Amino acid sequence: MSEAELLARVEALNQDASIHGILVQLPLPAHMDAQKVIETISPAKDVDGFHVSSAGALMVGQPGFWPCTPYGCMKMLEHIGYNLRGKHAVVIGRSNIVGKPMALMLLQQNATVTICHSATPDLKAMTLQADVIVAAVGKRNVLTADMVKPGAVVIDVGMNRNEAGKLCGDVDFDGVKEVASHITPVPGGVGPMTITMLMVNTLESAERLVSAA
Ligand code: NAP
Repeated sequence: MSEAELLARVEALNQDASIHGILVQLPLPAHMDAQKVIETISPAKDVDGFHVSSAGALMVGQPGFWPCTPYGCMKMLEHIGYNLRGKHAVVIGRSNIVGKPMALMLLQQNATVTICHSATPDLKAMTLQADVIVAAVGKRNVLTADMVKPGAVVIDVGMNRNEAGKLCGDVDFDGVKEVASHITPVPGGVGPMTITMLMVNTLESAERLVSAA
């Protein structure tokens, strides 16, 4: 379909009272402007949390939809009863969909947050200071056991393929699991939580829209 057709479809879903959540599966084909398409989604139905007004709400601590992947990471920390106050969290990656919102959520829970990226000169020097590490890079073995402080919590967002074509994360799981107090596997860690939080956002959206009707 053309970009105009897609924008018209999103507009129609915005107006449809029986629809409570809209997710545009990325990446889009090259002839479409992904940001323009996302900005067409009604913020009230932006269950992916990628609309600029959702991002702004997170930034200033207002209610709004949180991006599902970092939201799922926060739920896992909550599940193990981890108190982030006074802890040092290191986020590796600064994308709009994972790294940046992850850092803001950790900050909101009173962690001291460091964001690392491809221009960070000494990643190991940063991660060795971390009580919590979130790896969201998209490269295998970005985080190895020698880069992790004993007892740290390690969350692996990355999704890569190894030589055998098997799904794996950014973290050298076998090595790091010997050092970390908690670690998420790939597959079976962040991925299912992302889907879960999408359902949470959609349910909340439905409840809000139905009660406002
Ligand atoms: P992205 O947009 O490509 O961002 C990757 C980030 O990693 C960038 O900020 C980049 O820095 C940084 N980076 C690259 N090489 C680095 C290095 N050697 N050291 C430190 N930082 C480095 O990717 P994304 O969308 O955030 O996704 C990251 C990974 O998570 C991917 O593998 C993706 O498939 C996966 N993912 C998984 C889920 C899930 O549900 N499990 C959801 C979303 C994403 P620059 O900004 O300087 O380029």
